[in-house]
Amino acid sequence: MSGISENVAAVKLEIEKAAESCGRSGREIVLVAATKMNNAARVREAISAGVDACGENRVQELLEKYEQGAYDGAPLHFIGTLQTNKVKYIVGKVSLIQSVNSLKLAKEISKCAEKLGIVQDILIEINIGGEESKSGADEKDAFELVENISKLPSVRVRGLMTIPPISHDEETQKRFFLKMKQLFVDIGAKKYDNISMEFLSMGMSGDYRKAIECGANMVRVGTGIFGARHYV
Ligand SMILES: *Cc1c(COP(=O)(O)O)cnc(C)c1O
Repeated sequence: MSGISENVAAVKLEIEKAAESCGRSGREIVLVAATKMNNAARVREAISAGVDACGENRVQELLEKYEQGAYDGAPLHFIGTLQTNKVKYIVGKVSLIQSVNSLKLAKEISKCAEKLGIVQDILIEINIGGEESKSGADEKDAFELVENISKLPSVRVRGLMTIPPISHDEETQKRFFLKMKQLFVDIGAKKYDNISMEFLSMGMSGDYRKAIECGANMVRVGTGIFGARHYV
């Protein structure tokens, strides 16, 4: 017994409760299983249990598991730090790249997508806590970045993603999540061509309930589904 399907059911119930507590429906929330360090069999189990998508962090690991058919039956997202020289390996394989933090990266994605004759959906990752260690774009640059990306022919911005500073204090969590929600609304109100603010991806195992209460409609859960990761 891996417990994965029970965990997925429990997480979905929590998502529903959090959504309903603020007058929304659990059906509006996309549950992305953060699958890093879990093998193909475990990923398949999560898909069978009904997660809406899988999110992978590392290109090499994604390619290996992709070859093994790990993600069959669910959309695949890329959620980790992406180097420009690795873009070509994942464009066309993933339905959403959540971690786009620069114009340079977006240009490369657009170039690769154009070659394949597709449009790649992306989210813009924002470093909402302004932390040195985090890879998202600065909040103050977000508007200009989105506007510039909107001019690229073969990417389409569908929303925002963030990993806020780690905090166990609910008020602190809430502050960053609400800042993201406001940015999401403000960028949407600009009505840039070719941009739709549909997905606000925030919340992980420790804080997805709070994120949903603050407006997230996409959460990325790893530990809560697969248990603790064993770093080797
Ligand atoms: C690992 C990871 C998650 C999930 O983290 P958990 O705390 O295990 O739920 C979410 N988002 C990103 C970008 C991750 O790398």
